[in-house]
Amino acid sequence: MTRLAQTLGLTEFQTEIVSTVRHFVDKEVIPTAQELEHSDTYPQAIVDQMKDMGLFGLMIPEEYGGLGESLLTYALCVEELARGWMSVSGVINTHFIVAYMIRQHGTDAQKQKFLPRMAIGETRGAFSMSEPELGSDVAAIRTRAKKNDDGTYTIDGQKMWLTNGGSSTLVAALVRTDEGADKPHRNLTAFLVEKPTGFGEVVPGLTIPGKLDKLGYKGIDTTELIFDGYRASADDVLGGVTGQGFFQMMDGVEVGRVNVSARACGVGIRAFELAVRYAQQRETFGKPIAEHQAVAFQLAEMATKVEAAHLMMVNAARLKDSGERNDVAAGMAKYLASEFCSEVTQQSFRIHGGYGYSKEYEIERLMRDAPFLLIGEGTSEIQKNIISKRLLSDYRV
Ligand SMILES: Cc1cc2nc3c(=O)[nH]c(=O)nc-3n(C[C@H](O)[C@H](O)[C@H](O)COP(=O)(O)OP(=O)(O)OC[C@H]3O[C@@H](n4cnc5c(N)ncnc54)[C@H](O)[C@@H]3O)c2cc1C
Repeated sequence: MTRLAQTLGLTEFQTEIVSTVRHFVDKEVIPTAQELEHSDTYPQAIVDQMKDMGLFGLMIPEEYGGLGESLLTYALCVEELARGWMSVSGVINTHFIVAYMIRQHGTDAQKQKFLPRMAIGETRGAFSMSEPELGSDVAAIRTRAKKNDDGTYTIDGQKMWLTNGGSSTLVAALVRTDEGADKPHRNLTAFLVEKPTGFGEVVPGLTIPGKLDKLGYKGIDTTELIFDGYRASADDVLGGVTGQGFFQMMDGVEVGRVNVSARACGVGIRAFELAVRYAQQRETFGKPIAEHQAVAFQLAEMATKVEAAHLMMVNAARLKDSGERNDVAAGMAKYLASEFCSEVTQQSFRIHGGYGYSKEYEIERLMRDAPFLLIGEGTSEIQKNIISKRLLSDYRV
């Protein structure tokens, strides 16, 4: 093994596209990421090139104009993108989840309407479950859609933390429709909400107030969304049937977890690359710091974590691609990869000494990006809930 995070058994196409994305990241993303991040500038030129490469349609079936690739191909491309800049991988993340949900659960009309435009990145997806009062506890959603006599719905409430909230044109929003009072999860419905890009009251009854100011993950817009008497039609209900939203969104989140683990792998790989280079350049006490065993051992630990996270991510993606249930594998991959990513960036930061604290060095950005991976698509505690519940059921005494 000469390099970390190699994947055995890839098709010719997978090898080619992953290497194309890697080359693109080295040439176009890494050299500009620091500047765009620090000025909190949307990476439009990078996004345009991602569109040209077909990355927005990677997993959309060929019959709808996409590349019809597997979750594994998608995850390996995301790993490469996140290695360059986590925000760039965030641009396609919510888009990919929404396209996946429409593909899996949409009506024929919804597939025909949205997937071809999503495949070329003309329609861009955002995914909205969280609200100001809740994130983990999805069943507690308060935003409500009330059915009107003419069959339309009026939606009121506030959503929080929409990645790509301003730059998207299609939001899959989970709201309460209250049909199965005794079964809280049956009370939720996913609506496909079309809107223009931008901020303010973008359509009557729907406001995107502005970008939230975050610790890291800059460049990409994360927003609130306010429904105030927004009118949705019955055709906007994902799959055409109310009360299915929780299960549809959880299916989306499950592939999203593989995607977050891929991002964690990418950030971890970059943190390792920076550390292994710096450790051979920086000298103390007459020799490169890599020759001090304490530092060399750190590198060994980091590389082992990077490798383990990559293998679990690949395993979870392959399981989903094979049609098997992958909730535990995706939860484990997300949990392990994000925790290891956090540890590896911290180790790389320490190896950089004082320079790690300087905004001139890439590692400071990675230190700010890594914590989000512990939270997004379910915190580590939520992953452990999912994993332990299934284990206790499968290993029941
Ligand atoms: C930058 C960013 C982008 C995001 N993008 C999106 C997006 O695009 N769409 C979207 O819908 N959401 C998005 N989110 C929201 C994200 O999914 C939530 O923040 C996350 O699910 C956690 O929810 P919370 O913040 O409400 O924390 P809470 O649910 O309030 O949890 C707080 C703490 O309590 C712990 N906890 C909660 N319940 C339990 C339990 N049962 N057992 C043990 N511990 C528990 C949690 O692990 C956490 O440590 C984003 C968040 C951020 C920061």
